[in-house]
Amino acid sequence: MIVLNDILLDEHILTQPFSCDVKKCKGACCTMEGGAGAPIRNDELDSIQASVEAALPYLSEQSVRIIREKGWLIADGDGLATRCIDDRDCVFVFYDGDVAKCALERAYFNGESTFRKPLSCHLFPVRVADFGGDYLYYERIEECTPALARGEATGETVLTTTQSALERAYGSEWTHAAVELARHIQQDGND
Ligand code: SF4
Repeated sequence: MIVLNDILLDEHILTQPFSCDVKKCKGACCTMEGGAGAPIRNDELDSIQASVEAALPYLSEQSVRIIREKGWLIADGDGLATRCIDDRDCVFVFYDGDVAKCALERAYFNGESTFRKPLSCHLFPVRVADFGGDYLYYERIEECTPALARGEATGETVLTTTQSALERAYGSEWTHAAVELARHIQQDGND
């Protein structure tokens, strides 16, 4: 583990080849089995709520009905999460062919809202744990296996794949320092 400006970091974030290959994984991180969807931070609640109406036109009738009748937010342990449908798809999932995608993000990229998607989704496969401060780690799941081969081929890593999300969470200065650190580790490995 590495400490970078008071944030604890799993070295695999810097070194693991990784590039999402959604044609192969089908957006599996949005449809994982389990009772809860994406972890939600308290400071995201208002922004998500303000974006829901823009997301609805992309969703199935079933998802719209569930959001209207039950809401999109649930309690999950000590925290909050998006609701899942049948313990699987996040309630904001729509299908583009056979690939699961996020309706919040689609509305954002179509200029219909100002909130892209929950930070936990944006950061994935980076997860944030609390050790008194933030501890960032790479969550290795079987569904992401195609991303490992694609990262080997493209030269991308968990860090570069999640760079814009890390900038959103920790700022460009911290993220730039992480990129520099990764470069040094790679150089040392090549020497
Ligand atoms: S994080 Fe994993 S499951 Fe999600 S889109 Fe990327 S490769 Fe697919």
